Amino acid sequence: MHGRHAVSAGQNGVNALPVPSLLTGHQTWYLGSMNSFEKNPESGRKSALETTAGPRPRHNTVQVKVGGIAVGGGAPIVVQSMTNTDTADVAATIAQVAALARAGSELVRITVDREEAAAAVPHIRDGLARQGVTTPLIGDFHYIGHKLLSEYPDCAQALDKYRINPGNVGFRDKRDSQFADIIEIANRNGKPVRIGANWGSLDQELLAQLMDENASSAAPVDARAVMREAMLRSALMSAARAEELGMPRNRIVLSAKVSAVQDLIAVYQELARRSDYAIHLGLTEAGMGSKGVVASSAALGILLQQGIGDTIRVSLTPEPGGDRSREVQVAQELLQTMGFRSFVPLVAACPGCGRTTSTTFQELARSIQDFIRQEMPQWRTRYPGVEDLNVAVMGCIVNGPGESKHADIGISLPGTGEAPAAPVFVDGKKVRTLRGPAISADFKALVIDYIEQRYRRNGDM
Ligand code: SF4
Repeated sequence: MHGRHAVSAGQNGVNALPVPSLLTGHQTWYLGSMNSFEKNPESGRKSALETTAGPRPRHNTVQVKVGGIAVGGGAPIVVQSMTNTDTADVAATIAQVAALARAGSELVRITVDREEAAAAVPHIRDGLARQGVTTPLIGDFHYIGHKLLSEYPDCAQALDKYRINPGNVGFRDKRDSQFADIIEIANRNGKPVRIGANWGSLDQELLAQLMDENASSAAPVDARAVMREAMLRSALMSAARAEELGMPRNRIVLSAKVSAVQDLIAVYQELARRSDYAIHLGLTEAGMGSKGVVASSAALGILLQQGIGDTIRVSLTPEPGGDRSREVQVAQELLQTMGFRSFVPLVAACPGCGRTTSTTFQELARSIQDFIRQEMPQWRTRYPGVEDLNVAVMGCIVNGPGESKHADIGISLPGTGEAPAAPVFVDGKKVRTLRGPAISADFKALVIDYIEQRYRRNGDM
């Protein structure tokens, strides 16, 4: 216990100096001034309120165009995802790509693992176009990418980017020629590539060489640090080789995915320090359920806050039969909650506690969130800017009215023992009090009214 709650109040309620904790004698909190951003006299640093409410400037990268989507070079951070259908199953893959695109995936990667998959790619692209889905498609190649791309030129043409894993593009002397074949095909078709190193398929020859060098050095480092270095070098050396083969830097995206959060942060920080290639960010094998969401959000959130990352994928393992587009939703919510982009209106809801023992407010929060997600594809074109809307659904009078006033539209439901009335606030002002069994439907109608009035395009009826 460091007496964290020891504060002092000076004249006029303005705190001037840190004081010793009454409990421990440790000097602790500095409350600061209410009307200025003073330096903390202990540390000499400026107030964090002034200096750190936002991410660092984006790391400068060379912009890459993937289909019509700009990645890097200051473009908005792009959300991407990957199918888990058998690509040879054209209908299933079209359906999943379309669902991912509808959910908001701006790029979609598909596995191209064998001849049937390569043959299916142009049909997938055409089928999607017939549905009006033009989301760029990325082909994921391992081991035989050079062969598939050369034997299926329509596949090479239909894809908007090729993903190459330098750890399994080929072995020994074949590796260089197979890598060169892919780059040559990409150059011929004017396609960008992602050179994506992965912890699980690290270039073993490079790793062995670095391990040997490390073992014989005067100050050997931890084996895990050598692995991180191998990941990075594998990606950077392959990118340099691609450039030697005539690929311009504005067609190269790099990634170096690891499954452990701290390793991932270290690798990407160093990748950004050593190069200006556009960066694809993702934690590999993030896992299932909350573990996957938390691990990806922690790793990606820290890197994004440091200005690192031009496109992100949240690699969640879906529940059996689960919805693949969940990974798109998580990626969007991560970017939106951190203030990088807006995708769908956010619903702020309190967690609930002993003051709200009914499930009304949880049901309303869920119902409003689902309703917004469901309506968003139409709203996006009908109500430009609606993605910035903030809705609050609160459980009782303690924080309900206050939080609802901060939102564009909010409702404070009655907690246990409170009168059965739910005040609704619009733009900070109480406009209505809802009562009775139709509170949920009435509030939804008010949300729609608000959206209509605020976001309807001029001229729309
Ligand atoms: S707003 Fe009320 S119900 Fe919600 S967490 Fe706070 S005290 Fe509990």
